[in-house]
Amino acid sequence: MTNKQIGKVLSQIGSLLILQGESTFKTRAYANAARRVETLSEPVEDMVHEDRLGKVPGLGASMVRHITELVRVGQSSYHQSLVKTVPAGFQEMLTISGLGAKKIRTIHDHLGIDSVGELEYACMENRLVKLNGFGAKTQERVLKGIDLIKRSRGFHRLDRALKEAKSLADDLLRHPDVWRVEIAGDVRRRMEVISEIDLVVSHPDRDRIMAILHRFGQVQAEDGQDLTVIGPTGLPVRVHCVPDETFAVTLYHWTGSDGHRTRVARHADDRGITITDRHVIHDRTVIPCPDESAIYDLLGLQFVPPELREGGEEIARASENRLPKLPVRSDIQGVIHNHTSYSDGMHSLREMAEGARARGFGYIAVCDHSRTAAYAHGLSIERVLEQQEEIDALNAQYDDFRILKGIESDILPDGSLDYPNEVLASFDLVVASVHSMFNMSEADMTERMVKAIRNPHTTILGHPTGRLLLARDGYPVDVVRLIDEAVANDVAIEVNANPHRLDLDWRHLEYGMTRGARFSIGPDAHHVDELDYVDYGLYMVRKGGVTPDRLLNTLTAEELIRLKTVNLSTAAS
Ligand SMILES: [Zn+2]
Ligand SMILES: [Zn+2]
Repeated sequence: MTNKQIGKVLSQIGSLLILQGESTFKTRAYANAARRVETLSEPVEDMVHEDRLGKVPGLGASMVRHITELVRVGQSSYHQSLVKTVPAGFQEMLTISGLGAKKIRTIHDHLGIDSVGELEYACMENRLVKLNGFGAKTQERVLKGIDLIKRSRGFHRLDRALKEAKSLADDLLRHPDVWRVEIAGDVRRRMEVISEIDLVVSHPDRDRIMAILHRFGQVQAEDGQDLTVIGPTGLPVRVHCVPDETFAVTLYHWTGSDGHRTRVARHADDRGITITDRHVIHDRTVIPCPDESAIYDLLGLQFVPPELREGGEEIARASENRLPKLPVRSDIQGVIHNHTSYSDGMHSLREMAEGARARGFGYIAVCDHSRTAAYAHGLSIERVLEQQEEIDALNAQYDDFRILKGIESDILPDGSLDYPNEVLASFDLVVASVHSMFNMSEADMTERMVKAIRNPHTTILGHPTGRLLLARDGYPVDVVRLIDEAVANDVAIEVNANPHRLDLDWRHLEYGMTRGARFSIGPDAHHVDELDYVDYGLYMVRKGGVTPDRLLNTLTAEELIRLKTVNLSTAAS
C-alpha cells in the first residue's frame, strides 16, 4: 500500500466522521494524519514492518493502530464500519468534485437532502445558491459532477475489469474439465471503461461451470448456455459455455463490436456465407473454424486485431490488406515520463531505473514535476542540477541501460514553460503538461497549449486533455488544433498510459495518424510497479491504429535525444 493510498483512507475516515456529525476536533485529526502520511518521504509500509511508525511526530497511538492494520490487513476495520453506517447517498455525494463532507452536511441540515437524486432536483430549483457558503458557481459545478456520476454509473476502468476477468479466467482454466477460456467483449477490445465482462468457456455442461463459479459470487442462469455472475467489484460477468468446436465463432461473436459484426456480416453475405453466434455456414453446411483467423481467412480478410473491431474502416482495409501493423511490447525500447522521489514519486531514481531495466527496457526518461507544481514537490533549479548529477553518476555504472534527463514542465497559465531557457536546454527531453487553471475557456486553453507546443524546448505534450476517467472530464480544448500544431512543430503527443487517464483518447489517434503525428506512451509512473502501465498505453495506441514507426518509445535513447537537438537547431536557424 502506497503512502498516498493510506492517506486517502485516513482522509476518507475524516470525511465520513463529518457526515456522521462528529466533532471537528476528531475529524481534523484524520485530515492532519492523512496529510502527514502523504508528505512522508519514506514508504509507511517499511516503517510499519520495522515498528518505527510510533516515532513519527504528529501521529498518535490510535492513528498508528489504524495505519498498521491498513498495511498488515489491507483494510481498516474502523473505516469499513463507517462505510457501512454512513448513508450511501452521502458517500455518493462525496464523489462530486468540489463538494466536501462539510458542504454535504450543510446541504443535509438545511435542505434535508441525503441522496444525489434529491441534490440534482434542488440544484434545478436553485436552492443551493441561497445556502451560506455556496453560490451560483458551486451549484453549477455540483450539477456537472452529478452529470458525470450519472454517465459513469455501472462503469469501471479497464484495469479493474481486466484484472477481474483474468483472475476468473485463470480460476476456470485450473479446472480439469475446461479446455479453453478467453476474455471477449469490451475488455478484449480494450475499451477504456467497462460495464460488463464477457468470458467464453469451452465446456458444454453449464451446470458444472455454475458449480465452479459459485465460489466467485452469486450466479444466475440466463437463456441458452449463458451464466451471469456478479464479481467482487460489482461488475457483471457473462459466461458463455460452448462445446469446443464452436468456441472460436462464439468468441468472435461476443468480442463484437456490434458495428464490426454488422460490417463483417455484409461482407460475408456477398460471398453466400452466414455467421451466427455459434457457426459459420456456407451452402447449408457448417464450416469448421478452429480459431478466429479461420473465420477471417474464409472471408478473404486479413485477421482484424480485437482492438480495431469498432465498425469503422477496418473491414474495407482488411479486404485490401491495408490494416496497420500494430506495435507489440517488444517494439518498446524505453519508458518515457516517470516520477521519482525527487518530486511526488514513491521510489528513488535508482529504484525506478532498476525497475525499468529489470523489465527489459533500454532506457527510462525521468520526468519529475517542475518548480511551480509545489503540491507535488516540483524541482527547484538547484534540485534539477542535483538530479542531473545523480543521473550522470548512475549512467556511468551502466553499459546496457541509460537514464534520460527529462522534466514534466507545467504549462503556466500564459503558455510558457516553467524554467528559463538555459535550464530547459539542459534536459534530454521535455514533457509539457497542464496541471492548473482548468477552468479557462476553450479558446484560451487552446492558445495556452499551442504556445507551449511552439516552444522549441517541448518534446512531448503530456496528457493533452487532463481527463480522469469516470472522475473528471478533460478541460475544454480544441484537440484537432493541438494535433495540427504538434505535427507542424515536431512535438509528439502523449498517450498517457495511467489507466485513470488514457489521455489522449484513442478516438483522436486516427486523425493524428492521417496528419503524420508522432505519439509517446507515458506510464506517468509514480511507483516502480506502475512502469507496467506501458501495457495500457500499448492497448490504446493499438486501438487508435498507431504504427510502431510513429511511436517515440520505439526509438533508441540516442535517437530520442537527437529529436530535441534537431528541434532546437531548426528554431535557431
Ligand atoms: Zn502530469
Ligand atoms: Zn506526470
